[in-house]
Amino acid sequence: MESWDLIIIGAGAAGLSAGIYGVRSGLKTLVLDEKTAGGTTADAPLVENYPGFANIGGMELAEKMVSHCKSAGVSIHEFENVISLDLGSEKKTVKASKATYETKTVVIASGAHYRELNVPGEKELRGRGVSYCGICDGPLFKGKRVLVVGGGNSALITTLYLADLVSEVKVAHRRDAFRAEEALVNGLKEKSNIEILWNTGVKEIRGEKLVNKAVLHNNKTGETRELQIDGVFVQVGEDPNSQLAKQAGVSVDGDGYIMVDTVQRTNIAGVYAAGDVTNHPVKQVGTAVGQGITAALSAYGYIRRPYYHKE
Ligand code: NAP
Repeated sequence: MESWDLIIIGAGAAGLSAGIYGVRSGLKTLVLDEKTAGGTTADAPLVENYPGFANIGGMELAEKMVSHCKSAGVSIHEFENVISLDLGSEKKTVKASKATYETKTVVIASGAHYRELNVPGEKELRGRGVSYCGICDGPLFKGKRVLVVGGGNSALITTLYLADLVSEVKVAHRRDAFRAEEALVNGLKEKSNIEILWNTGVKEIRGEKLVNKAVLHNNKTGETRELQIDGVFVQVGEDPNSQLAKQAGVSVDGDGYIMVDTVQRTNIAGVYAAGDVTNHPVKQVGTAVGQGITAALSAYGYIRRPYYHKE
């Protein structure tokens, strides 16, 4: 069985940062990801709040992180998903789709996945007008009418991105105020083809082969109406990818986020978590990077026990 000092699950901003700090600390470090490396940073149309990059595409930023990590000497296995974890003893086992590995420490940086609306038509029309990623699918809707659902940062970033591509963007938000950054809310006012539908939920998405209507419900007036639309971008938040960790005994909070302390330790010795999978209240590229770094240095401390390390 291949043996490692540090195995990191997830090659997003948190996992890649942990990887860089792992190898630079002299740890034999492997990063596993079920998809291509880069994580959800790559899905962001534009990143304007990561220090050092006033304005950079999410894909470009993610690619820079991946190539930095590789050039630092980290082994990254893409398209290798983790099947189970045995974290009970000092030597931990990570069973993945291509091999089973032994490791002294684990950093769980498996991120989160897009939350669904769970309304009729959503599953059936996914990929046929229903999308969860503006940058991936936005160009397919050039000159068309789209609906964005949600009121957080993701919804508004997607709205602003789509407004430059499509003929009109309607934003359905279930309340009467956004929870997004003020800079994004102000950005909406600069585009003439954006309309906000307050207090509005989506009850159903309709279409034969492709989406052509959304059934909207105003939760203040009680009115239900059909909206002619070509695409629906669901941007209503995320849920953590913490199932395997939970099965292996890692403690999670009521929403499934892995509970960590200030140095990213979980309840299991030698097991750390970083990024969007954790219960840290701020979910930003910058915080994921910081948590990944801290997790790798905690793993280093656990293995090498330098004089300053505190258990
Ligand atoms: P979020 O901040 O949790 O916002 C989700 C939005 O969807 C909220 O407005 C919520 O409404 C709405 N919503 C949730 N469930 C819904 C449902 N079933 N039906 C209709 N609407 C629903 O999620 P996010 O925007 O994806 O962001 C996730 C995290 O990543 C946040 O911490 C965010 O700050 C961070 N992020 C940061 C950036 C950045 O560049 N700064 C970019 C993207 C994401 P309510 O407001 O009523 O709860």
